[in-house]
Amino acid sequence: MTQRVYLDWNATGRLRPEARQALQDALALAGNPSSVHAEGRAARRLIEGAREQVAALVAARPADVFFTSGGTEANILALSPAIETLTEKRPRGPLLISAIEHSSVRSGGRFSRQAVTEIAVDGEGRVDLAALAEAVSGTTRPLVSLMLANNETGVVQPVAQAAAIVHAAGGLLHVDAVQAAGRIPCEIGLLGADLITLSAHKIGGPKGVGALIRLSEDIHLADPLVRGGGQERGTRAGTENVAGIAGFGAAAAAASREHAEEATHMLALRNLIEDGLRAVAPQTVIFGAGAERLPNTTLFSLEGMKAETAVIAFDLEGVALSSGAACSSGKVQPSHVLAAMGVSPLLLRGAVRVSLGWETTEADVAQFLRAWRKVSTALSKRSKEQRGMAA
Ligand code: PLP
Repeated sequence: MTQRVYLDWNATGRLRPEARQALQDALALAGNPSSVHAEGRAARRLIEGAREQVAALVAARPADVFFTSGGTEANILALSPAIETLTEKRPRGPLLISAIEHSSVRSGGRFSRQAVTEIAVDGEGRVDLAALAEAVSGTTRPLVSLMLANNETGVVQPVAQAAAIVHAAGGLLHVDAVQAAGRIPCEIGLLGADLITLSAHKIGGPKGVGALIRLSEDIHLADPLVRGGGQERGTRAGTENVAGIAGFGAAAAAASREHAEEATHMLALRNLIEDGLRAVAPQTVIFGAGAERLPNTTLFSLEGMKAETAVIAFDLEGVALSSGAACSSGKVQPSHVLAAMGVSPLLLRGAVRVSLGWETTEADVAQFLRAWRKVSTALSKRSKEQRGMAA
């Protein structure tokens, strides 16, 4: 049987051993973290320990971490006209987002459709800072949401520069760091972010848990999405996902400890992949190659390739990867990210994403490249036949 190789870590990663252990230990506990008895206090300790570990990953204070059911919920919790600061309690708006945000940000959260404006990106997939400056200039209390790294291309956004522009206009900046965390540094203060979103399953934690983290207590999330009990200091009602949060904390601690070494390892492998892609098919296009990118992501295409067919062909060779964003895979829909970058329809159809993780090895890369040789040979044979037929 062919050995399976998993190269779809931007969709989700494997649980880190530390996270699995923390999950298992927490599942053995009976207590509700809101209860005052010893069992309840033990569950509370797990949550507060995890809050410290998650806060440390972005150099925030534990008291500024609010656990949610994932990155999607954290993004939507952040995107509300009702975010207050010490000095500004009137409703915020408009919401400005880049044209390449995740669908949860593109949904606009609690803003009306008319209150959401998209900011263009350049051909490498970086947000256009001049367009951002122009968009904020006509506003008084904008909320801007910008991802730190794109899930499809891995392109890192100029967030600190954007923050300076947004703050000069009296705005607040929310940063979706779901793909960046554990791969590049994400200190909230250095980024200039007022709010930052994390998701556990992208850093080796369990699925279904995430966090919205604020820069300081001066920011008040006055419009909870889930109302009821007073959990998460009134910001997110409902008995906490104790095991999920404990697993998230353990994954965050491991990511804080290991990310520099893992990034160097992944970058070396990604370079092997990109050299190998071009060695086999020199016309291969790697999107965002001229920009700073995450060390683990390659989005590539070849004219004539159909991403859905290529993904199936790779799967038959034992290699799991994806066409564009995982959330839209299954539906044959052109990537809004590549469309925003002005990529031609012929290349857009063939975009395939390889994303690496802490567990990826050189042998995995070798198997991927063997599969690529077969996929691209079949492709060029087919296009020669088509040319023959047309002649
Ligand atoms: N933001 C980005 C950039 C993502 O890539 C994803 C998931 O793919 C999310 C947010 C949503 O996170 P979650 O899957 O935890 O809801």
